[in-house]
Amino acid sequence: MPRFMVPESRVSELNDEHWMRHALGLAQRAWEQGEVPVGAVLVQGERVIGEGWNRPIGQHDPTAHAEMMALRQGGKVLENYRLLDTTLYVTLEPCVMCAGAMIHSRITRLVFGARDEKTGAAGSLLDVMRHPGMNHQVTIEHGVLASECAAMLSDFFRMRREQKRALRLASKTN
Ligand SMILES: [Zn+2]
Repeated sequence: MPRFMVPESRVSELNDEHWMRHALGLAQRAWEQGEVPVGAVLVQGERVIGEGWNRPIGQHDPTAHAEMMALRQGGKVLENYRLLDTTLYVTLEPCVMCAGAMIHSRITRLVFGARDEKTGAAGSLLDVMRHPGMNHQVTIEHGVLASECAAMLSDFFRMRREQKRALRLASKTN
């Protein structure tokens, strides 16, 4: 099939995968800094206007989630606190703080990878963004590269458990 015959829906699907892969690369940076690996990228048209990765420990900042960093940078780039016509890609379902920030910022679309059953505020624990009383509705899609996004987190936590076990063993033998 020639390129121009690719159906519109498939084009946006491929685009979503492309940006989610970008977000996964940012999550890797969090991992390298010893932070829970979550990455986010804010896109307007084909342009990246914000990037973030989880870094609350290193920044001594409980609000330094990947999404917050990407939204802050997006505001600086657009010189506007309203981030109209943008899509935020994040590897993990946002928490209630980040979901709230997305509503304030008026992003158009949220695409997330893995679900967060414990703290997810885009449908898992809570559904803040689709609350019927909300004055701004964000279109939400999820499941893009979900298994890769989830695997990065479970690999990270497994590695941390193994590190702790090794430390315990080392302290016993000393
Ligand atoms: Zn968050």
